Amino acid sequence: MAWKRFFSRSSEPKPPAPVVSPRPDASGIVRRRPPAADPAMQSRLDTLRQRRDMAAYDLERSVAARQPENPWRERMDLLDRSLATIEDDLRALDAIPPLPPISLAETPITDIDVRLAQPVSIAFTIGAERFAWEEEIDWDQRGGPVVRGQVRQRSGNAATLVPPGVPEVRREALERHLAESAAVLALDLRDRALEGEPLPERPTLADLARPCPVCGDWRDWRGHCDTCATRAFRRQTLRTEAARIAQE
Ligand SMILES: [Zn+2]
Repeated sequence: MAWKRFFSRSSEPKPPAPVVSPRPDASGIVRRRPPAADPAMQSRLDTLRQRRDMAAYDLERSVAARQPENPWRERMDLLDRSLATIEDDLRALDAIPPLPPISLAETPITDIDVRLAQPVSIAFTIGAERFAWEEEIDWDQRGGPVVRGQVRQRSGNAATLVPPGVPEVRREALERHLAESAAVLALDLRDRALEGEPLPERPTLADLARPCPVCGDWRDWRGHCDTCATRAFRRQTLRTEAARIAQE
């Protein structure tokens, strides 16, 4: 039996292995592992350890040889799933049904008053509500011309413009939209006055919230639909992400 043959071979007298490692033993080998309890077994122990290390190395290598496939496949699966999710998100965006359009009354916007003296102020009346803004003075630090600053609303409650018949679920959104659209109108009136352009003819409340034919939400005074813009941005973000994934 191999064991016995080996034992008999290695049973020849050998110098005792050092007790404190690592230190070269008599044969000049530095042992990083505990020496054999029986010095006569040291050579056998070394051989077994060497075989074990080689087996471990072979195993490691065979695993590594297969590895380039697995992480790659996993990565591709992950990318495929990400692309599918993006496509689902894009389809879901396109599938959102438009809201039922809600038009507002052609209530005239009256008593438009734009003052260009500092601080610039803008005011108009819708129904019984007076809306007013004042520009916050923002002098150019280098003493140059005045930089057009933000306008601060001084009066006007958009909630009073929401008709009673508007469904509860959309009242808050409409109030927010009207507040923003009224501010857009105020800035437009200021810019027209500054440029010497004529003021809009007979603006109405309805002009502040025309139903968007695409999404059914409302467009503001300048015809901008926030909902469509948000969706367009989302689509763009998803497409950019899909293009990035496709390049990987
Ligand atoms: Zn829209």
